[in-house]
Amino acid sequence: MDKARKKSLKQKARNRQRAELEASLPLSAQTLKSLFSELDADGAPPCDHTLTRTREFLHRHGHDVAAVEPWLNQHGGFCDCEVLANVYDEVGDLLGWHLDRGT
Ligand SMILES: [Zn+2]
Repeated sequence: MDKARKKSLKQKARNRQRAELEASLPLSAQTLKSLFSELDADGAPPCDHTLTRTREFLHRHGHDVAAVEPWLNQHGGFCDCEVLANVYDEVGDLLGWHLDRGT
């Protein structure tokens, strides 16, 4: 298989993966982004190994925690720092987001 073909197949797989991920998002991209920004904020309390701050955020923004949590778990987010480390890594990379820092 030549390089160009290999590259185009890879790109196709990536696009499909991205579309599936986007379709599976339980929250809008913008909401997820503000969740990540909040978890990553300067002076945020250290993770207590639960999803306390994530749940609090979801409540505050009127989202159904029970619907969002399994999705976070599925992407490796079992506590606040894992949401930031694993979920952000996965969806942030695919969707090409950047955290708003200092805004
Ligand atoms: Zn943690």
